[in-house]
Amino acid sequence: MTAKIISGIEIRKSILQELKKEVQQMQKDHGIVPGLVTILVGESPASLSYVALKIKTALSLGFHEVQESLPEDITEEELLALIERYNNDNSIHGILVQLPLPKHIDEQKVIQAIDPDKDVDAFHPVNIGRLMIGGDIARFHPCTPAGIQEMLKRSNVETKGAEVVVVGRSNIVGKPIAIMMAQKDAWADATVTIVHTCTRDLAMHCRRADILIVAAGVPHLVKPEWIKPGATVIDVGVNRVGVNPDTGKAILQGDVDFEKARKIAGRITPVPGGVGPMTIAMLMKNTLIAAKDHITKSQCN
Ligand code: NAP
Repeated sequence: MTAKIISGIEIRKSILQELKKEVQQMQKDHGIVPGLVTILVGESPASLSYVALKIKTALSLGFHEVQESLPEDITEEELLALIERYNNDNSIHGILVQLPLPKHIDEQKVIQAIDPDKDVDAFHPVNIGRLMIGGDIARFHPCTPAGIQEMLKRSNVETKGAEVVVVGRSNIVGKPIAIMMAQKDAWADATVTIVHTCTRDLAMHCRRADILIVAAGVPHLVKPEWIKPGATVIDVGVNRVGVNPDTGKAILQGDVDFEKARKIAGRITPVPGGVGPMTIAMLMKNTLIAAKDHITKSQCN
């Protein structure tokens, strides 16, 4: 068997086209476009490139984009004051603070300073609580898990009653995707198991999975023999395992040995080109949702 490739690049393209149309319609109907502020502290090359991509995508959709590039030594108070300014700015519907932040700034304090209705990363405890409750109460879904669910949906993967095994329990991927897949909801309704470093028999759990979602950050952690024939494998891992001497670019590897796994799985996401491209698309979707909510609220007032 050779697995069907689930291409995040292709799915992202369709999502961005849909979003662009919605933005144009919003401008036509209401005279406003979604507003996103990207806040970057310092000059870490990885953060710089992630933020640049977010800005480029937002602009390509016709968003109002504001970029804040702050020095590494900005104080926590100054950063919190800036966030407060954007919390009160009606032209901004989404606030994105690129993580990680320098060590002298308390990340949780910063996340919790963002108005939950503008928290398009969905990291605020209020949004995590809403996600737990599910249904319409969950306004924003965190971007990477939302991207995974969207890939399953658009690839027509049956999730109802499926055995889903999630490798990893981080706050940004493992825990939220596990909760989302277990909800009584469309493209969810699964039986979910979370595994981690204290799990006794990782291989045994992975072998049971109809849908295996791997977010461990360990190159080629999942061995081909751990994959159930025909399973859907979603590889979230992005591991820099070297540098290409010709291009100078990082060589990326997933948490799954793609070449071997594709001979066993039914569907599989590649690295790169799988989950990664979806994350930014879902950030844009969340910003559009925030803008729509803003319009609804202003009409009610
Ligand atoms: P993280 O915070 O480091 O969490 C990793 C999780 O994997 C932890 O829960 C850890 O278990 C578990 N784990 C690590 N090694 C394991 C092992 N040998 N066996 C079983 N479980 C193991 O990582 P993260 O932020 O979730 O990211 C995971 C990967 O996804 C990284 O490669 C990251 O770069 C990538 N990522 C990609 C995107 C994207 O957009 N494509 C977005 C976010 C993350 P313990 O809790 O027991 O330590």
